[in-house]
Amino acid sequence: VLSNENGVPIIRSPYQDIDVPDVSFSEFVFSKLDEYKKVTCMVDHVTGRSYTCSELKECAIKVASALKRLGLKKGNTLLVFMSNCPEYAMVFLACGVIGVAVSTANPVYTPMEIQKQLEHSEATVIVSMSTMVGIVKEAIKFSKTLQTNVKEIIVVGKAEACRPFSTLLEDDGSAFPDNVDICPRTDIIALPYSSGTTGLPKGVMLTHSNLVANLLQLCRGPMQLSPERDTLIGLLPFYHIYGMVVVQFGPIIQGVKLVILPKFEPLVFLSAIQQHQITYMHLVPPLALFLAKSPLVNNFKINSVKTIICGAAPLGEGVTNEVNNRIGAELCQAYGLTETSPLISYDIAPAKVGTVGRMAPSTEVMLIDTLTGNPVLPGKEGELLVRGPQVMKGYLKNSEATSNTIRDGWLHTGDQAMYDLEGYIKISDRLKELIKYKGYQIAPAELEAVLCTHPAVQDAAVIGIRAGDEVGEIPQAFVVCKPNINAKEEELLTYVSENVAPYKKIRGGIKFVDQIPKTASGKILRRLLKEQL
Ligand code: AMP
Repeated sequence: VLSNENGVPIIRSPYQDIDVPDVSFSEFVFSKLDEYKKVTCMVDHVTGRSYTCSELKECAIKVASALKRLGLKKGNTLLVFMSNCPEYAMVFLACGVIGVAVSTANPVYTPMEIQKQLEHSEATVIVSMSTMVGIVKEAIKFSKTLQTNVKEIIVVGKAEACRPFSTLLEDDGSAFPDNVDICPRTDIIALPYSSGTTGLPKGVMLTHSNLVANLLQLCRGPMQLSPERDTLIGLLPFYHIYGMVVVQFGPIIQGVKLVILPKFEPLVFLSAIQQHQITYMHLVPPLALFLAKSPLVNNFKINSVKTIICGAAPLGEGVTNEVNNRIGAELCQAYGLTETSPLISYDIAPAKVGTVGRMAPSTEVMLIDTLTGNPVLPGKEGELLVRGPQVMKGYLKNSEATSNTIRDGWLHTGDQAMYDLEGYIKISDRLKELIKYKGYQIAPAELEAVLCTHPAVQDAAVIGIRAGDEVGEIPQAFVVCKPNINAKEEELLTYVSENVAPYKKIRGGIKFVDQIPKTASGKILRRLLKEQL
């Protein structure tokens, strides 16, 4: 797994390479659905609705036909603002057929956050839920651009001035386009948002081939599932790349049942595991911690769970052992980024605890010294660079951020890591400014921008501070007030929380300072702020 390329040590996958077929994402998934026809692939735990592989394909074709009739065509973008539900996969597959990119938004976003993503992605159609569509309407009300751009709001359920999703399923499918000319290696299927190594959230352009590759990488390697043995839980949010690709489509393409949950409610989660005899779960660290610590776990029979994969944020070694001992499952880690569709590496049981395993098939990693840029040797720390068919095409309308992130074919992750002689990776720190609260992304630049819109604030900087295993990190702000104005911390905290999703709240509080340390070019010296703390 360790090799040399012109004297540079490269860490490769121990697994056989994949061949990425030159097909669209939907063609690829449809071919798998055709293989498993009568197998139940999705169950909505709350409503009990269930779909076989054939039914899912049929629904996706009807939705594709209906979206085409609504005027959506290749090159357009549709935004999904929903919590986890079976319609998510239908919309995705339908858009994949007609060449439309799907931009996904966190279901807890505020109108301001939705407005930004809608404007930037230039989405013309929104798919949402009756319970959340008020946020979308509010976003549109305050934006002239959106009033012109947005042609249609489709809702699961019913809402005024919106098209019910059920009417899409009444389509006879006759406008189903089977001749859309999709170029899988360049056309975009998914447009999730991530702040990457720096700045504001950016549209991550993932091609059809990116997602097909990552699905193959996940089921060719050790994460392969078995229709006879496995049932998965679909709890991680489908708007995030981990939920979207690994959790949602991973089982579906392997003829394995996915039990969908819209949000984390401890008792519902545990009873779903017990009722559906879940064998395999993808979780994030706070959920692993819940399984390790919560007394509620004792009231349920959840020993059907054999494998837990935990990703999206660092996991304490102690938690891994506690979960394994308590439940009798094997907890392993996976590592990836929105920009890599997401999987880069994963482990298999028995895990090398504390590592994020080894490279997925056809994936190569190199570590470079952050100061010199020189490649580092095993056992030494460096920034992790990755190359593989799952690496994004780039950031939407942002060639500067793209060329800063992908250089000479290598994507710079902004993560600090080290590797051993067997090719196992350990993530040791995050070099980039991104804050991860319970696995959710918080971009400091976004909070700084919100703070700076407050009339009392002259300048602001936000950094992440460690806050224990349950949450990971929380944002802490430094604020410079305008001359002769004394803002109150409470007032600013309330102002921010009114404008951002609850998980982005400045939980670390605000320190008032005279100035924000910056480089000559105006970049905030976040390391210095961390050291000052
Ligand atoms: P996202 O784009 O939201 O998936 O965030 C990607 C970032 O999450 C990575 O660059 C890492 O900083 C972090 N991350 C993902 N998986 C892990 C992991 N297993 N251990 C530590 N950090 C992780």
